[in-house]
Amino acid sequence: MALVRRTAALPLFVAIFALAADARESRRPHIEVRGIYGGEPAVLMKQDKGLAKAGVNAIWIGERGITKERVARLKAHGARIFAEFNTVHRAEYLKKHPDAAPVGPDGKRAEAPHGWQGICPTHEAYRKWRMGAFRTLLRDHEIDGVWLDYHHAHASWERAEPALPDTCFCPRCRQQFLRHTNGSGRATPDDPEWIRWRCEVFTDWVREFREILDETRPLALLGTFHCPWSDTERDGALRNKLAIDLKAQMRYLDVFSPMPYHARFGHAQDPAWISKQTTWLSKHLGITGEPGDPVRIWPIVQITDWGEPVPVEQIEAVLDHGTRPPARGVMVFRWGPLRKKPQKREALTRFYRAIKP
Ligand SMILES: [Zn+2]
Repeated sequence: MALVRRTAALPLFVAIFALAADARESRRPHIEVRGIYGGEPAVLMKQDKGLAKAGVNAIWIGERGITKERVARLKAHGARIFAEFNTVHRAEYLKKHPDAAPVGPDGKRAEAPHGWQGICPTHEAYRKWRMGAFRTLLRDHEIDGVWLDYHHAHASWERAEPALPDTCFCPRCRQQFLRHTNGSGRATPDDPEWIRWRCEVFTDWVREFREILDETRPLALLGTFHCPWSDTERDGALRNKLAIDLKAQMRYLDVFSPMPYHARFGHAQDPAWISKQTTWLSKHLGITGEPGDPVRIWPIVQITDWGEPVPVEQIEAVLDHGTRPPARGVMVFRWGPLRKKPQKREALTRFYRAIKP
């Protein structure tokens, strides 16, 4: 019932926003987070007025870059700190545990497409290791939340033409699947039972992450960086190949951060693709973008060059589409290259200052 009411309210909210949003750089009180992904922005923090005056109020840092000193420094600037947490992509684990490598339908170890090495999602010791690291991260650091990253089947999708091999058909996965279906399922890439079971395996990781977060730092947010494709794009690859069931994961998540890197993914001249994808996501999940909705959409948008360049002149349009309802927050990919691009930094902070309530 609540879902129906929230969905019905969406068009009105969007219409009101459309009337008010003629000027791109105008206040956007629905945007609660104006973030930067990928490191401590020391250059901005050293400026005489600091991060808050730059309009930035949230920073995402990789789990291994989180230190007590860094958290304290960022908090002193009034910023929220979120950790990015690598779930099934810690490839170094395979050196001592080759049995955790994803396996193809032919029973052989699957190649890492474009070097993106995933891990078999049913390897118990690997999962235990990641869950332990997740708990320690939340226990030891006063962070405001954790974002899951690379939480999908072994694949290389962060490009215009993705590589989506079928995995994991290791003896452990096959056996668990057969047990799950009482021996009736076919462990083949196109078996609907197989697709459903794989999605459930990845969703169950999210369930356990939520459980740990609730036990360890219950006020922290659980978010996920995920593939921005709709459920029908690329023949349903989101579920069929990547094993991402957004609807099933939603009950455990506070924030969805789709990754509509327009330039990287073949839409270099079309920043409107960004808001198209967030709008699809909101409809698919019944997220309204209104302040009372507990589940939020904060996309991560591309303003640095990767694959295709993003010109300085395009940054305003990218942020405009990234901050349209139903989005209630935004962050930019990524800090590293921005260090040496003062014009891009200026375009970013000008927009953030302007939309600040
Ligand atoms: Zn496996």
